[in-house]
Amino acid sequence: MAEENRGYLLNEIGARKIAANVLADFQKLMPGLNVDPVEVHIYRRGHPLYMSTPGLYTQVQPLARHPMDRVFFANTDSEGPESTTNAGILAAQRAVKEVEARLAGKPAP
Ligand SMILES: Cc1cc2nc3c(=O)[nH]c(=O)nc-3n(C[C@H](O)[C@H](O)[C@H](O)COP(=O)(O)OP(=O)(O)OC[C@H]3O[C@@H](n4cnc5c(N)ncnc54)[C@H](O)[C@@H]3O)c2cc1C
Repeated sequence: MAEENRGYLLNEIGARKIAANVLADFQKLMPGLNVDPVEVHIYRRGHPLYMSTPGLYTQVQPLARHPMDRVFFANTDSEGPESTTNAGILAAQRAVKEVEARLAGKPAP
């Protein structure tokens, strides 16, 4: 989206119009799909990424994913050097191991 058009995302009328345009374009590309979505999500700020500050990866994230008794954290922001689906899956796999260890009465892996 061109920078001068981004203001349209800041109010509901503009956001709805952009969503309608995207759906119309999508329908042109895939006419057989008969698009009728229940909802449309618009991300005003695009892809979220960390601010690269000292200690984030080595100090802050290990704290953010540390279990609290029976509460376990499986979110990409607690895991990766960047926010991705892959890091979200790795976080889920890590949290499952933590839960299994807890249920088996073993120390966290
Ligand atoms: C515009 C955009 C483009 C992206 N493009 C890519 C890409 O190309 N490739 C890629 O790898 N990654 C991409 N990402 C990043 C990727 O989507 C995320 O990193 C990933 O979805 C994070 O997974 P997650 O399970 O950690 O968190 P989420 O997917 O955010 O899941 C968290 C879930 O918890 C729910 N939730 C929150 N609070 C509560 C509560 N109190 N109670 C119950 N449920 C709650 C939320 O509704 C949500 O469903 C993109 C992200 C955005 C926004």
